[in-house]
Amino acid sequence: MSVMITEECINCDACAPECPVAAIMSDSDEKNPFEGERYYVKPEACVECVGHADQPRCAAACPTEGSIVWDMPYTEEFNDYYVSGHEKGSYKIREHKKKGFMFPTVKAQEFMSEIPMSARESHANVAASF
Ligand code: SF4
Ligand code: SF4
Repeated sequence: MSVMITEECINCDACAPECPVAAIMSDSDEKNPFEGERYYVKPEACVECVGHADQPRCAAACPTEGSIVWDMPYTEEFNDYYVSGHEKGSYKIREHKKKGFMFPTVKAQEFMSEIPMSARESHANVAASF
């Protein structure tokens, strides 16, 4: 990953059916850390649509500006970032029966390398990059 869904989300469901890897949870999913509030992207599953589309499909479908923003790549370099986010409750990383929590050191994910790190750090609007 990853992209991230913000509090701007209006729970319209335009994004989830577009995701090629089923990485988006609805606000009514009990595994969503923001259940009852907004949709959620699983960072351990999101591949930023690499190999599927030229830009994140969820953001292309989203009608709400600022609802889908960049997050850090889901790579070993950002393992601590995701562990800390998981501990704080901003992410709910899947726990594998044998491998444990699927943090980036267990399984990293694809990301769009052309996106500047500054856009990720500032959680810039994804749609504005295209
Ligand atoms: S960027 Fe692509 S893979 Fe990631 S959540 Fe959006 S649609 Fe799914
Ligand atoms: S398309 Fe945008 S506003 Fe609609 S549920 Fe997804 S993130 Fe929320």
